[in-house]
Formats: sequence, C-alpha cells, structure tokens
Amino acid sequence: MIDLRSDTVTMPSPGMRDAMATAEVGDDVYGEDPTVNALQDRAAALTGKEAALFVPSGTMANLIAFLAQTRPGDTVILSEESHPFHYEAANMARVGGLLASAEPGLLGKLSPEAIRRRVVQIDDPHFSHTTLVSIENTTNRGGGAVYTPDEVREVATLAHGLGIKLHCDGARLFNSAVAQGVPVLELAAPCDSVCFCLSKGLGAPAGSLLCGSRMLIREALRLRKMLGGGMRQVGVLAAAGLHALAHQVQDLARDHTHARQCREALEAEGHEFLLPSPTNILYLRQAEPYLAAGLLAGEGVCVLPHDPDSIRIVFHRDISDDDTARCIDILRRLLQPCRRA
Ligand SMILES: *Cc1c(COP(=O)(O)O)cnc(C)c1O
Repeated sequence: MIDLRSDTVTMPSPGMRDAMATAEVGDDVYGEDPTVNALQDRAAALTGKEAALFVPSGTMANLIAFLAQTRPGDTVILSEESHPFHYEAANMARVGGLLASAEPGLLGKLSPEAIRRRVVQIDDPHFSHTTLVSIENTTNRGGGAVYTPDEVREVATLAHGLGIKLHCDGARLFNSAVAQGVPVLELAAPCDSVCFCLSKGLGAPAGSLLCGSRMLIREALRLRKMLGGGMRQVGVLAAAGLHALAHQVQDLARDHTHARQCREALEAEGHEFLLPSPTNILYLRQAEPYLAAGLLAGEGVCVLPHDPDSIRIVFHRDISDDDTARCIDILRRLLQPCRRA
C-alpha cells in the first residue's frame, strides 16, 4: 500500500523506536520527565523562544495559544482555509468564546492589507476587539504554501504595532524552513507563539510543541492541564520527537522532490493541480474524487478525496523513490485529466 492521504501516516523509524525504548522517563505533570524537558529545551532553542511545552496534538497547541493570548469575546484574524477555522471542531468558539474574522484566499495566507482591513480596535461597546492574528506556515488547505521570513516579519510588525499578538500554526514549519533553505528560527522569531507537529512529516507517533515566552508557557501549562493534556511518563514520545529533530528534518527535502516529480509527470499528461505546491501537498483536480480514490485504492494507492473537485496527495518519509515512481505510473494509468470547466 502506498498511503498518500496525509503525512500523519508515517511510522516510527527503527532508530526512533530504539530511542523510545530506552528513554529515561518521569512524571511530566510534576515536570520530572527528563526526556520531555530535553525536548522542550530543544524546541525553545530551535524557535528562539524562552520556553516550550509538549502537548498531545497540534489542535491542542493552537487552542492553548489562542486561549493564552485572548479573552472570551475577542476577535482572532485568520484565513478561511486555516486549520483552526476548518478542522478543529470550532474549539476557538466553543472553548475560547472567540470570534473568527476569516479572510478568504485559496493559498490560506494572510496579507498585511487583509489584516489591516480586518483589525477592529474602536472604543465603542458595539465591537469586539481584535487581539490575535494566526498564520499557518505551511498552509495545509493552501497547498503547502510558505510564508517567507520577510512575510512573517511584515505581519508581525503590523500586528505588534497595533498591540496585537501573532501566533504561527507551524504544524509543518520544518517543511517551510527546509523548502526555503532558512532556519526555523527565522520563521518563528517574529511570532509571539509558534507551534509545530512532530507527528506529520517529521515522523513521530504523536506530539506537538508550543513555544513562546516564559510567561506564555507558564499559562500554557495551566491550560494544558485544564484541557486534559497533562501526560505522565511521556518521555517515550518525547524521545521520538528528539530523534525526529536530530535525524529526520532534512528528509523533508526528499518529500518535496517527490511531490514535484509527481506533479510534473502528471502535468505532462494534461492533468491540472488546483494550487502551487512548494512543499509536500498536492491537490489534483478530478471530476469525481471519490471514484478516483476508489480506483487508485484498487491498485494499492491511497489518496484523500478533498473538495468536490479534487483529491489530496501528500508525500512523506515513508514514500521511497520507487514508491513515487510506482504511484506516478498508477495515477497516470488510472486517472483522466480534468481541467477547470
Ligand atoms: C495537522 C494540523 C494541525 C493539527 O494537528 P493535530 O496534531 O492533528 O491536532 C494544525 N494545523 C495544521 C496546519 C495542520 O496541518
């Protein structure tokens, strides 16, 4: 089976499993798990923040970042295509009491103009105050689009000038950094909070890191407990994360190459992709996405029917050069090119 539904399907590598098996652990709710502490220190150093917190998922990392930097009734500016707006069961509204000011745009990115247009800071009791901007680097529904360091700085300067915090949902922040050949630090530094997932392209079984100031992370610790995310001898998972950060980051470049090879091969046959794909996520236009996914599954290629007009194909570390060649061959053979009507 060549599973291209998501980069979350990656399996722990043999080296990662060894690291997990031999991890030193303790009760992390008491702050006594040395491996978790080491991972948090590493994450803080990589993102240039004072502190970091290990949390079970990217969804919880985003929610904690939102809760820690807003009050109920505040407005958060984000993209209409963003993960918190689309895929987090309305947690910002339900748990945070937050209003989303959602900007349209297929790449899932926010421009400074859009932010400027959406910020509300009028001293009039009719209005909710905007207190947080949330960007996604790379964008999931936006085809893995990246913010450059300059773009992040520009958004941060604007937000901070207005007294607004900036959160970066960096579920795939390392994909962004590797694709651009820049340190993660440059993408993270301008943001007040940044999170990244270990459980996607980096190949760990679970876990995300939320990084920020010492004060923010102190509040995040309380919120994590409140949400039920306090874990105990979780160094076994943190060890997987440390292994991923030490040994598996550069492999992301290969995933990007595979995605490009697949795209180019299919484009040569008249296929059309919905969006640019600078990293590892492709949206291939198909008239009947469920039918297409069914056909491919019959030959051992698993993809995700996405919107009514496309399938999602995601490359990751468990897809080899040979797998890529085989999947290109199968996609070419089974799928009819579909152009925008
Ligand atoms: C996957 C993802 C998340 C959430 O991560 P989970 O660990 O699945 O909760 C958040 N943001 C983006 C952009 C993602 O792709």
